[in-house]
Amino acid sequence: MSKIRFVASDGLPGLAASLAKGGRRVLVPVEKPAASKPSVVFAPYEPGVKMTLAKATVPPKEAVLPECETLMTFQKSRDPADLNQTTLALTAVEEGVPTVVFACRPCDARGFAALDKPFLEGLYADPYYKARREKLTVASLTCATGCETCFCHWVGGGPTSPIGSDVLITEIEGGYVLQAMTPKGEELLEASGLPDGADKFPLAEAARKAAWASLVPAPDLTAARESLKAMFEDTAFWEAETARCLSCGACTYFCPTCYCFNITDEGEPQSPCGGRRLRSWDNCMSSLYTREASGHNPRPEKYQRMRNRVSHKFWTYPENWGPYLCSGCGRCITNCPVCLDIRAIVLDAVAAAKGKV
Ligand code: SF4
Ligand code: SF4
Repeated sequence: MSKIRFVASDGLPGLAASLAKGGRRVLVPVEKPAASKPSVVFAPYEPGVKMTLAKATVPPKEAVLPECETLMTFQKSRDPADLNQTTLALTAVEEGVPTVVFACRPCDARGFAALDKPFLEGLYADPYYKARREKLTVASLTCATGCETCFCHWVGGGPTSPIGSDVLITEIEGGYVLQAMTPKGEELLEASGLPDGADKFPLAEAARKAAWASLVPAPDLTAARESLKAMFEDTAFWEAETARCLSCGACTYFCPTCYCFNITDEGEPQSPCGGRRLRSWDNCMSSLYTREASGHNPRPEKYQRMRNRVSHKFWTYPENWGPYLCSGCGRCITNCPVCLDIRAIVLDAVAAAKGKV
């Protein structure tokens, strides 16, 4: 059996503190106060940080794909003896700090597994992503049940799914059972100094079973891929589904599996001859995302952008990589200012394509 440990109910902050020793960055969910709506975000553990076990408003995707990162710096110099001769020195910035994402949810962990496919398993691995991913350990807290917008079990995951997790943490009476799911998880539990919890594992199994039993059964999505393909040219369908959309992009920025980015160069104020190349999150729901230098835009209408986003997640990504590019976390639903629901769009496509596929 894999390594099992036990920690008492009040012991998780202490565990995060002990893991943070020795140069590890431990990202824990914390409440971020706000005048309007407080949110829960992942922040590095440090003494005094008050962690919460609530599901985070913002997924921990930044652990591997920061909102903005420097890919390289550049420095141009001119040969004083021949001013026509210039040299450009490039310095790649690859960083990977040992990091633990602590007490995220199984849908967040599944997000990392989804990002791994294009960033690590394509023709070329992305060295920036790879450096961070190799040093990342994910310890997920299994959910006791789902909420109204959760649909992880529709898309191949679930409230206790191990996909993407190195350690699964399950609450039982009096504490938490921690189960290593990978060699990285074994290492983390070994370093935790926690007592063995194998005798409590049956209680964790019972809690996990109860979580599944509490879910409303998932609809059958096996026709989703073919249905979206069949509906691709149906402009009226997509216009109707997208009518309310404001193209704000909240759905993409809160998503643990979205990975559109933009690359820009900027100069250093201190030097007229140097600068850096940045990679920043972008948003495929924005009309600017696909606007080309010529001014041509292959997706100028919002229905085209919604069609692309939903089709990528439920048709083209699965066609290339297998699973859906959606972990069913529901954040795009809860954060959409006009309450658009990706589940309804997929189900509408399946219903509308009946007889065509
Ligand atoms: S969050 Fe809602 S309104 Fe904003 S782009 Fe996404 S679907 Fe459209
Ligand atoms: S598409 Fe929506 S439900 Fe799916 S992973 Fe992204 S934010 Fe979560």
